[in-house]
Amino acid sequence: MIPGVVSVHFDTSGKPTRAANAAGALVALRNEVRHGSSIGVGTARKLLADALSELDRLLAGSLFLRDHVLFVARALNFEDGEFVCQARVLRGAQAPMARVALRLPRPVTMGRTYLATRDFTRVLDLHPFVIVDTCPICEDEEVFLYESAGADRSHFVSFQKGHALASVGALKLLENYGVLGVRGGKA
Ligand SMILES: [Zn+2]
Repeated sequence: MIPGVVSVHFDTSGKPTRAANAAGALVALRNEVRHGSSIGVGTARKLLADALSELDRLLAGSLFLRDHVLFVARALNFEDGEFVCQARVLRGAQAPMARVALRLPRPVTMGRTYLATRDFTRVLDLHPFVIVDTCPICEDEEVFLYESAGADRSHFVSFQKGHALASVGALKLLENYGVLGVRGGKA
């Protein structure tokens, strides 16, 4: 478990934080303006202003991520009692991924994306909510974030370019994890 991931969601008394409430409000706003909805200009401006202030709250609560590392596991060896992982470290939307060798206390799964503390003593598996894969639209390697689940596949949108990716395998995993409480619903 990564402490920052817990504290961004819950305060010390177990209540949702401002950041967690902001994330919920952003999803609700997104669902109000999904495809097929028709709203007036005034309503659209109000929703946008609401979304921007909620986004500020969410970003303020997410600053802990600066002290963490996002990486994709590409190969794994066991050397001198440690797991040595050849990884690609993600450094933001504009920077290319860096190739590094990480020494980890526990094994990781090839191809999966992980969030880790800087000393790599705590590593959180983000699969299948975050997927790094070749984009079917532009063929670049991109970071895809889970968006929604349909009847036979789940849908992802890329962080860098907003490109879409659909996955059958990720949907099966999400079902196994029991995170699809309302099938066909939105994230
Ligand atoms: Zn793309």
